[in-house]
Amino acid sequence: MSDNPNAELIAIGTELLLGEITDTNSVFLARQLRDIGVNVFFMTTVGDNLQRIAAAIDAALQRAEIVITCGGLGPTVDDMTRQAVADATARPLEFHQSLYDQIAERFRGFGVEMTANNRQQAFLPQAAALIENPVGTAPSFRVETERGMVISLPGVPREMKYLMRAAVVPQLLEKYDLGVIVARTLRTAGIGESSLDDQIGRALLSASNPSVGLAAHHGSVDVRLTAKAATKEKAIQLLNEMQAQLEAKIGEHVYGIDAADLETALLDLLHQHRLRLHITEAGLPGVITDKLDGSADGAEWLQSQRYAHPKEVYARYGADAAQVPLKDFALDAVQRMRAEHQADASVLVLSSPDLAENADAVQGSAVAVATASGCRCRVYGFGTRSNLARDWLARWGMANLWRMLSDQQAAQSG
Ligand code: ATP
Ligand code: MG
Repeated sequence: MSDNPNAELIAIGTELLLGEITDTNSVFLARQLRDIGVNVFFMTTVGDNLQRIAAAIDAALQRAEIVITCGGLGPTVDDMTRQAVADATARPLEFHQSLYDQIAERFRGFGVEMTANNRQQAFLPQAAALIENPVGTAPSFRVETERGMVISLPGVPREMKYLMRAAVVPQLLEKYDLGVIVARTLRTAGIGESSLDDQIGRALLSASNPSVGLAAHHGSVDVRLTAKAATKEKAIQLLNEMQAQLEAKIGEHVYGIDAADLETALLDLLHQHRLRLHITEAGLPGVITDKLDGSADGAEWLQSQRYAHPKEVYARYGADAAQVPLKDFALDAVQRMRAEHQADASVLVLSSPDLAENADAVQGSAVAVATASGCRCRVYGFGTRSNLARDWLARWGMANLWRMLSDQQAAQSG
């Protein structure tokens, strides 16, 4: 018996291949398998074609011990999964009177007329084990072969999910000596993915248990740790050890763990050190202030100014938009704003409508942050008409603000 079985998923249905529906079933199944420590290396999508479904099952059985199909178990001619499993496993279909009676019973319960083609659903590959389906009529089943097992689930998401949770997962847990997988995310801000990668180093990034992976979201990067062990406690211990090693290298960039969000980390930092923040937003009102406001309960440390268009900021700070590059202007203005408002930190957001219809306007978007120890700016090529602008500017601004202020506090106390 293996304690490290591989599984493959096969989603069946021509509507998937036509792009008419999204294969959310495989997403669900993959997560369920991940959570019980079963590796998935391949997922296949195949249309309602007997030969191709059988070929997909056959290929999967050559690579994996567990093959899970979903879809194509209904009563109509385009539901061919039963026959395909029979072909791929060389087991003829057999009629089961008791299954037929059950299906008929269920139809009576629903008050629906059973049609002749529902008889098809009472056929299962020889020696298949029935997986009872109390939430629908499509019978599911499991076929064990020398090469591995094939589990066939219905395509209707509600039924598929129920059967996976209630029947398949418990059966897999019983059959295999599976471990527990626990994940943890360290959230970092104000450092790019490649610098983070560099600081963590190859040795940790190529570790396999826990594994360490990076995921970047403009201005912040998540470091995801995944550990597998026989018990949850043991997996958590592995995570704790890896987290300690990571924190020794990148600790100062970490603003929180798991569900932590940047807004809260930033507000905590501001509150804790009674820091005064001034935010100027032009063209994208509320992009950062709205995120911080809700939890600020009118705190006096937060001041803000909003302008409808960045050219008002240009005019106020005496620059000619046509002459001064956006980044230079933003860096200069954000520092002047900090001094003017006697703030510990200032943030400036400048975002203009995309197209060049306004010759005197700045193009694109900039976000700049200044503290006593320095300033940073990021310019984006898109403007207020892009949905990206709100999210990217806000995240970059808050991430760098958090980073610069925490560095400053660390320097002062250290
Ligand atoms: P039925 O008895 O309802 O025919 P079935 O097992 O034959 O069940 P399908 O006919 O393949 O299942 O799919 C039924 C419906 O379930 C589809 O119309 C679609 O809405 C949904 N569905 C099927 N496969 C998927 C999938 N991979 N991801 C998301 N939804 C799916
Ligand atoms: Mg169907």
